Amino acid sequence: MEKGIIFDIRHFSTHDGPGIRTTVFFKGCPLRCIWCHNPESQKLEPEAINRTKKLDGQEFEVKEILGRYISTDEVIKEIETQVSIFDESNGGVTFSGGEPLMQPRFLLELLKRCREHDIHTAVDTCGFAAPELFRSILPYTNLFLYDLKIIKSDKHKYYTAQPNEIILNNLSMLNQLGASVMVRVPLIPGITDDEENLLAIKEIVKGNNSIKRLDLLPYHHMAKDKYRRLNLPFELEDLEAYKNERLKEIELMFSDLEMPISIGG
Ligand code: SF4
Repeated sequence: MEKGIIFDIRHFSTHDGPGIRTTVFFKGCPLRCIWCHNPESQKLEPEAINRTKKLDGQEFEVKEILGRYISTDEVIKEIETQVSIFDESNGGVTFSGGEPLMQPRFLLELLKRCREHDIHTAVDTCGFAAPELFRSILPYTNLFLYDLKIIKSDKHKYYTAQPNEIILNNLSMLNQLGASVMVRVPLIPGITDDEENLLAIKEIVKGNNSIKRLDLLPYHHMAKDKYRRLNLPFELEDLEAYKNERLKEIELMFSDLEMPISIGG
């Protein structure tokens, strides 16, 4: 039996694939996106965070350890409690993170166990993993939630710490292999949302038959507090959230794609 490290399991998710889902958040990511909304997911090991607690009207900080090692049996046991909800809602399980493919044996065993239970599976990936790992999980993965962030590789490397050739190659390989893919684009003002980048993303989506849906995920401030608790600098501290008119403009750019498009997942 495999063991892995996760930082959360959340039930009743409605943004990580079809229906009502349980999302298992793996710890560890090969990227370091400066806008990362889950900075607690990046390190492949447990880490201490500061939490503010209140007692008798007084606030004080306590340290908590984030991330726990867990066996596939334990994860499946928790997933099994939700099967009737999956059945009623056409939902299932999403393996997210971090990057699930950083723990490939743990992920593969979980996917196989879900398949044995006839549970719909989605893998939420940044795409930065060896192609053979994608091939190994494909037979047990009903849907890939695939991030497309920045199409120029040097700019991608500047903002995420990794180039993107392997990400784009894996996406076209999934197309050749007949996978089912939903693309997610983080909209980060001044970084991913310029016309050149968005049109380049659109061209890739147009030419890839495996892509069935596009989600545009606008930047929000909610991660700010997480950075503080992790004692990490948050470089986008002063970035303004989107106004609705700008989001409408962006949505319009993609409106002639023949697939559902949503803002916010
Ligand atoms: S790929 Fe996702 S989890 Fe990894 S650093 Fe980027 S935003 Fe964070």
